[in-house]
Amino acid sequence: MADKVKKTAKPTSRDIGLDVQAPAAACKDGHCPFHGQLSVRGTVLTGTVVSAKMQNTVVVEREYMRYLPKFERYEKRTSKYLAHSPPCLQAKLGDQVSIMECRPLSKRVSYVVIENRK
Ligand SMILES: [Zn+2]
Repeated sequence: MADKVKKTAKPTSRDIGLDVQAPAAACKDGHCPFHGQLSVRGTVLTGTVVSAKMQNTVVVEREYMRYLPKFERYEKRTSKYLAHSPPCLQAKLGDQVSIMECRPLSKRVSYVVIENRK
């Protein structure tokens, strides 16, 4: 952990390779894609924060439509993702956030919040 925090002393944020607004605030989180060492990859999803009670982790719920061929209609489905929430993005309950895949940070956390649209 300590070696990951080292690089965050710089005031500038890293380019995560995506066209998102870099957070205005800085942080010392080693698992922050902008100020830490965590690299992002794969899928980008958007959803709503439905719980922010954990430390630096939020539950993001995403709604999507699934086609049912038998009825030729769509059904609404939801799925929840646990995502690491760096302190600089200040994701709170009810916020619209973008999350992106990263390496597994814990048993159920393999996404990180990369944008907070409030
Ligand atoms: Zn940060």
